[in-house]
Amino acid sequence: MLDVLITGGEVHDGAGSPAVQADVGIAGDRVAVMYLGRIVEVGTPGQILLRPRHPYTQALISVLPGGQGTALGGEPPDPTAIPPGCRFHPRCPRLAALPAGDTRADLCRAAPVEVLPARASGSLAACHLVASAEHHHSPQGAR
Ligand code: SF4
Repeated sequence: MLDVLITGGEVHDGAGSPAVQADVGIAGDRVAVMYLGRIVEVGTPGQILLRPRHPYTQALISVLPGGQGTALGGEPPDPTAIPPGCRFHPRCPRLAALPAGDTRADLCRAAPVEVLPARASGSLAACHLVASAEHHHSPQGAR
């Protein structure tokens, strides 16, 4: 079994400020993407690389060679100042793109997202908007 763990990778945008801080683990055929100490998305390498669903994973993948590149706003993650609600919400492009008055923004800012298991089968993303868009929870053993 292949076991690879990459932590603390950092990608800088053209202005020299950190655009994405990467924390990606690969164990066997599973990939887990972490942000501020929590797994935000798990899936197969193909799912993560080709069809990322969590906004942080999408930003991460977008800075790989050939990608469009997504510069994240806000401050780099600080483990001493964990944001309420979704930990990624101060930097989330999907939240920022919601129309004014969209009540889903309240969820992002105030309601913690699901804590994902490290070795979940199937594809899971810890995001209120992904969950509401898909009404989906993969059963054990599904891919
Ligand atoms: S829950 Fe909201 S803030 Fe968090 S990643 Fe999803 S859209 Fe962004």
